[in-house]
Amino acid sequence: MKFHVVTLFPEMFDSYLNESILGRAIKEKKISVSFVNPRKFVTGKYKKVWPDGNVSAQIDERPYAGGPGMIMMAEPVIKAVENIIKKISKKKDVKILTVNFIPSAEKFTTSAAKNISKKYTDVILICGRYEGIDYRVDKILKTKKYSIGDYVLTGGEIPAMVLIDSISRQVDGVLGNFNSREEERVSTSEIYTRPEVLVHNNKKYKVPSVLLSGDHKKIEEWKNSSRRWTSGGK
Ligand code: SAM
Repeated sequence: MKFHVVTLFPEMFDSYLNESILGRAIKEKKISVSFVNPRKFVTGKYKKVWPDGNVSAQIDERPYAGGPGMIMMAEPVIKAVENIIKKISKKKDVKILTVNFIPSAEKFTTSAAKNISKKYTDVILICGRYEGIDYRVDKILKTKKYSIGDYVLTGGEIPAMVLIDSISRQVDGVLGNFNSREEERVSTSEIYTRPEVLVHNNKKYKVPSVLLSGDHKKIEEWKNSSRRWTSGGK
């Protein structure tokens, strides 16, 4: 699975992608993540070369009909995505999904992650900033729009990391084995490890006795009843 991220802030991804499971998956070439900064595609009056040789590229503009904040212009984002598509389309059998993030869109779920991991070879993730991106981007690029929850973040970088993480979990070999996926087994967030009795402020907190019983049927029943997993992962 190859992820291509269109973002004004590629450095934000560095530490998350270099550590732990995703870091290993990238090293082992199970997944790859590349970045394109849409500022590179700013042209005309929005691109300025200053007397000291520095170049600045303005990507945001005022909204039509007024309103607070600025909007990311469509053209540099479209060109960035088209540039990625042109490059990856040279390879055989590519299946590309282009995703834009909108707080009010359809919620991203584990079943979406599973479907994407099965159907596509390349996922392009567009990270909005400011008040968002000119709506014509979605029309022209026929994007799939996802929200990661009912709250508004300052940008699409965290949503992009969420999709990279959850889709990568579905890619064979990224997690140790199939069974490591919570989505594939009875899993609960009510979990315990040593010690059997935790003493805190003179109070004792015990591990539920069923988990010490060795009775696997009862343990499965207990896990089922305490199960928090409701994402529709199956
Ligand atoms: N004005 C936009 C609106 O009302 O829908 C919100 C813009 S938000 C400040 C900036 C960007 O952050 C969005 O374009 C989107 O890429 C991302 N974003 C913020 N919250 C999000 C969420 N819950 N899910 C997915 N993306 C989100």
